Amino acid sequence: MAGTGLFAEILDGEVYKYYADGEWKTSSSGKSVAIINPATRKTQYKVQACTQEEVNAVMELAKSAQKSWAKTPLWKRAELLHKAAAILKDNKAPMAESLVKEIAKPAKDSVTEVVRSGDLISYCAEEGVRILGEGKFLLSDSFPGNDRTKYCLTSKIPLGVVLAIPPFNYPVNLAVSKIAPALIAGNSLVLKPPTQGAVSCLHMVHCFHLAGFPKGLISCITGKGSEIGDFLTMHPAVNCISFTGGDTGISISKKAGMIPLQMELGGKDACIVLEDADLDLVASNIIKGGFSYSGQRCTAVKVVLVMESVADEVVEKVKAKVAKLTVGPPEENSDITAVVSESSANFIEGLVMDAKEKGATFCQEYKREGNLIWPLLLDNVRPDMRIAWEEPFGPVVPVLRINSIEEGINHCNASNFGLQGCVFTKDINKAILISDAMETGTVQINSAPARGPDHFPFQGLKDSGIGSQGVTNSINLMTKVKTTVINLPTPSYSMG
Ligand code: NAP
Repeated sequence: MAGTGLFAEILDGEVYKYYADGEWKTSSSGKSVAIINPATRKTQYKVQACTQEEVNAVMELAKSAQKSWAKTPLWKRAELLHKAAAILKDNKAPMAESLVKEIAKPAKDSVTEVVRSGDLISYCAEEGVRILGEGKFLLSDSFPGNDRTKYCLTSKIPLGVVLAIPPFNYPVNLAVSKIAPALIAGNSLVLKPPTQGAVSCLHMVHCFHLAGFPKGLISCITGKGSEIGDFLTMHPAVNCISFTGGDTGISISKKAGMIPLQMELGGKDACIVLEDADLDLVASNIIKGGFSYSGQRCTAVKVVLVMESVADEVVEKVKAKVAKLTVGPPEENSDITAVVSESSANFIEGLVMDAKEKGATFCQEYKREGNLIWPLLLDNVRPDMRIAWEEPFGPVVPVLRINSIEEGINHCNASNFGLQGCVFTKDINKAILISDAMETGTVQINSAPARGPDHFPFQGLKDSGIGSQGVTNSINLMTKVKTTVINLPTPSYSMG
């Protein structure tokens, strides 16, 4: 059970502690932040509301711990990461339990998130050993005007302190996708978990603690992003910010100093369906892509752009599958569970009501109880409706009927987002042309958008992000290139 057994020391009475200097601590603020269970709408957990002084202390520790960590052999860093991954997987139950209670993630998916996170840490350790263990050797005579008088050696060095801020929807997975690359590359790491998801993250951090990482190298500061966020992101000790979330990332980018940023933000992933597509495959992918975790995924299918000639058939097939989705508590593995907060539910409802007023066809009756919204397919959505452009982050999928491929591509490219998209067709040539024309970081052919597997590059164009994720890209982003040039007194050529 969460906060018991191996994890008992992370709890102080009814408030979870924060993690600094290798210890679990109670904040001097004397204040806590409540985590509301989305399904029951009651306070489930409480975490410390950390102070600015506590942030300052953590940053100082992170700076000095990083100096010795950078001198720790790569294989030793990898060994500790493998240890943390094993502890995490062995103790998946309390983390999965807190994911169910804090973010209403279905129980099975919660376990999957933790296991996937352990695998990500291990993969990252191995990849880090490979890519950080080698550099480049350049010879000067390949550039015009030069003899072979200079040998250039390049390697990758750490940045310093990495600040990681994940969102609520994959708090454990998106935290470790920042922590593991930062650590293998020789950085220290300060984590600010999302408030909904903080307790799962604290359990995850304890797994790193139990693995035996040096004191101060990893810290976890809790508190509301709206209160402590600016202080963290503008802190002079921070050398890199890896953030996943919504528009907040855009304002962080404007305020952050001259440091590398990894921003993985929102999306409005389009699903383009051509006449020759396998319509059963399309329907099952709209269900999987649009309704998994109640649509609260950055890569959820957020607009279907279907050719008019097959639209009736697609809508009928999806409708039949929507009818089979179960709605209810996450503990019972319901397909559709409560969305994360009342304000999210109100926002989703606003989009639905706007579509209603403007004449969208409701394939199901709109139904909501508290934060629980029943799955809804909206047909005949037009570009003047908000749902055609905005990210609902809920179980509502709009269908726009199109008369040409160009119309679909134009709609996709007119979005301010550019995360992923997908196209369904049996014609690989058309699929490639459409993929090239779509202004998104990734295009999936004949499958719904997805972030994983976690080693694939993952990036958004436009307002969907800066930089690229995926294990290798994250390690590279969290390093700098360092060069040493050996200058010879005379040209020297190996004779062969
Ligand atoms: P969010 O509201 O932007 O919050 C993300 C994180 O930022 C949370 O940890 C939050 O803490 C923190 N935060 C809030 N205000 C802050 C500030 N001023 N400074 C620094 N940090 C601050 O996003 P969310 O609701 O958790 O997640 C949903 C969004 O994430 C969607 O737009 C979704 O598309 C996007 N997302 C993108 C990806 C991707 O990889 N592209 C993946 C998953 C989700 P608190 O919880 O304490 O407010």
